[in-house]
Amino acid sequence: MASASVKVAVRVRPFNNRENERDSKSVIAMAGPTTTITGGAGQIHSFNYDYSYWSCNRSDAHFVNQKTVYEDLGVEMLEHAFQGYNVCIFAYGQTGAGKSYTMMGKPSDPEEMGIIPRLCKDLFTRCEENSSQTLKYSVEVSYLEIYCEKPRDLLNPNNTSNLRLREHPLMGPYLDELTKLVVCSYQDIYDLMDEGNKARTVAATNMNSTSSRSHAIFTIVLTQKRHDVETNMDTEKVSKISLVDLAGSERAGSTGAEGQRLKEGANINKSLTTLGLVISKLADESSKKKGKGTRATVVPYRDSMLTWLLRENLGGNSKTAMIAAISPADINFEETLSTLRYADRAK
Ligand code: ADP
Repeated sequence: MASASVKVAVRVRPFNNRENERDSKSVIAMAGPTTTITGGAGQIHSFNYDYSYWSCNRSDAHFVNQKTVYEDLGVEMLEHAFQGYNVCIFAYGQTGAGKSYTMMGKPSDPEEMGIIPRLCKDLFTRCEENSSQTLKYSVEVSYLEIYCEKPRDLLNPNNTSNLRLREHPLMGPYLDELTKLVVCSYQDIYDLMDEGNKARTVAATNMNSTSSRSHAIFTIVLTQKRHDVETNMDTEKVSKISLVDLAGSERAGSTGAEGQRLKEGANINKSLTTLGLVISKLADESSKKKGKGTRATVVPYRDSMLTWLLRENLGGNSKTAMIAAISPADINFEETLSTLRYADRAK
């Protein structure tokens, strides 16, 4: 089994209207893989990641567009999937920081489409180019969200009966009765993406007019069936690709939340904290395998539905990439610093 490894990228978006109206100043600087954030008293915090993406201003020479983000992270993960690994790409950050833009973007716009549509497009191009008498591909898609620790089927939002959490001896944890559809072309997958996106839960908070309070998991299961003519034997390689747009990481307190909003906040914090713990434990394990320690670590997958469902995509035979989305503005300093620290712990 290959050791778990996590690629970490940080991406800073342009100033939004609210920040411009308040005449916010930038606190973020990037140079190569290094991101620095400067506090009000001039204190500088510096972090190194695999990639630091400056997407703050299109006219800047070092502006990074959707295509480059995909080429750095998506292409590599897709390659791993074809090799037979389970892969996971997730976007973390406060609401409005650019998670959905990075993961989904505008699927109908060739420039603005995000990692998910680009990866789906490449996946089908590759399947079409390589399929033959002896190599067949099949692709299956599901799309769900987790809201307050409850799963919801985005491809069948009317299914209000509880999707039961179960465990398959080989494929790991899964949701019974979750819609899984076989797709034969990029257009098929595009239509499902569109349907699921419309069904996503969005609710208003003080932070933003609409803010995502749920984790969305878009899953592709790729099966490669190879027939060996000499031995007349069939072999099958199955890989699961999970593409995750996490709920906003802002603390419930900072959005003036009460009642249901407070409960949402507590659940979101719990699952994001658990995800952070899982990833840093896996990073520890990975460094132990390289001879930096000996004690076995317990990975707390079961502590949240998110990590339990992603278990096979995070540990063991898997490759993970994380994108931390941040705002450039001084008014978001605390949230941004906390996102940068979270991303730092994932390395
Ligand atoms: P989140 O999913 O983190 O809540 P969004 O992805 O919805 O945030 O981004 C909020 C707004 O900022 C959207 O209007 C989006 O188009 C814009 N935006 C985010 N990141 C970028 C970027 N890198 N370049 C241009 N616009 C962006």
